Amino acid sequence: MFKEAKETLKETFGYDTFRPLQEDIISQVTKRKDALVIMPTGGGKSLCYQIPALLFDGLTIVVSPLISLMKDQVEQLREYDINAVHLNSSLSPEAYGYNRRQVLQGKAKLLYIAPETLLMDKTRDLLKDIKVDLFAVDEAHCISEWGHDFRPDYRELARVRKELFPDATCMALTATATPRVREDIKKTLEFGESEEFIASFDRPNLFLKIADKDDATNQVLDFLYTRKNQSGIIYCISRRQVDELYQALEDEGYSVKPYHAGLSDRDRAINQRQFIRDDVQIIVATIAFGMGINKPNVRFVVHYDMPQNIEQYYQQIGRAGRDGLRSDCVMLFSYNDRHKIKYFINKKEGQEKEVAEKHLEDLVKFIETKKCRRIPLMKYFGEEYPKDECGMCDNCISKDEDVEDFTLQAKKLMNCISDLEEGFGKTQVINVLRGSKAQKVLELEHEKLDSYGTGKEWSKNQWGQLSRMLIRQDYLSKGEHAELKLEDKAHAVISGDENVFGTLDRTATAMSTEEAAW
Ligand code: ADP
Ligand code: ZN
Repeated sequence: MFKEAKETLKETFGYDTFRPLQEDIISQVTKRKDALVIMPTGGGKSLCYQIPALLFDGLTIVVSPLISLMKDQVEQLREYDINAVHLNSSLSPEAYGYNRRQVLQGKAKLLYIAPETLLMDKTRDLLKDIKVDLFAVDEAHCISEWGHDFRPDYRELARVRKELFPDATCMALTATATPRVREDIKKTLEFGESEEFIASFDRPNLFLKIADKDDATNQVLDFLYTRKNQSGIIYCISRRQVDELYQALEDEGYSVKPYHAGLSDRDRAINQRQFIRDDVQIIVATIAFGMGINKPNVRFVVHYDMPQNIEQYYQQIGRAGRDGLRSDCVMLFSYNDRHKIKYFINKKEGQEKEVAEKHLEDLVKFIETKKCRRIPLMKYFGEEYPKDECGMCDNCISKDEDVEDFTLQAKKLMNCISDLEEGFGKTQVINVLRGSKAQKVLELEHEKLDSYGTGKEWSKNQWGQLSRMLIRQDYLSKGEHAELKLEDKAHAVISGDENVFGTLDRTATAMSTEEAAW
């Protein structure tokens, strides 16, 4: 069987090698043993049931709660020439009938179905004489009240399995499951001889940072200032907040679109498509955005408002850096936001309230940690982070006195040098930046320059340190009369294509590391 799996990977899907765990999972499933698969989003879960589906004679049923995802997958499979169909409430009677016949006549290899549709009597009729070899439960965390998206219909799946296709092998797949949820899934689905496959949740190319929220819109603008050509997502808690921030960014000239459930389906689809095609740089969105999106070059995910729990946070930051390149994930946090979430939680009751409280508590612990952020984050997913420090989170960086992101300041400095037409030395550049009224500034009317007064947050000493660092790194050079000049690399920074990292003398930056990183 296994050779065939590899052939299918190559011939049908066009891939040369399996991703970590895919091989083991497929081999387990084709031996007809149940499997629990935990893989981060984008890890490649679908192939784990799609390949066995093609190797088995009978039908593979895939339960999925998201109709849009279902449709995407079916379309993709059709492009590979695989007969896959779906059944759910969104279909017209004609389409429903057609898909049903594909199953009845044994033509369909995969049937994607919504849980509530699977529970209907007419589906039971359809499936009663069909040979089902594999039963794949996608988004399996929906089974558990301890997950972040409990769906009561999922609880009925074991009963359906026993009644309609007791011999089918069962696979449960999810991107987000704590040890508690895992147990729940296996118990509820009544797994037989089974194995768990847990891929690492670490995404080493994501830089994790949490900043105190004080002047959120300006914090976001400062962050974006250094990322003019980079694609990113900004999550807000409410539609109103999305609209406000979207407007603020648009007013600043950013290429940006909103996304939330208050927009029409059509507008949402258009905005999403433009973002995916890089026609739009930034999406400001509520939690409604992102499911099933696989855009490789998302360079940042900003949480303007704190998420509700770690699973949500992890899923949302997980949309950054799919191409493996460094990407920044920044959350703005305030205790005020926490109170707001608490207020909503207090309206819930019973176990639902208890679960939400626990999730919020875990998130706040993660936010407040002084340790490497990957340690509590991985621990939440039941994984032990193998190192003390990752070097890719705010806590590791400040502990190491390691490099920081100085793009914002570097850009201000470079713009000022450019305004001065590369004809002045450090003192004049810094005076202009800091909005000085020195005689030489006023005489030359340099207070009229765009960059005048844009760098008041830093002392002379700090700007001096930075200019030395930029000279060391070949962004700047000194001319014959010590005038500061821009090198080619500097233009890449000004246009937003490159970020500047480095270390200044700690004493000089200590007072303003927070702004510096922003
Ligand atoms: P998940 O369901 O875990 O979020 P997907 O199954 O959608 O992830 O896979 C994410 C992406 O990775 C898809 O574009 C898929 O085609 C690709 N992929 C999956 N397995 C492989 C592989 N073995 N080689 C190359 N690409 C793969
Ligand atoms: Zn770290």
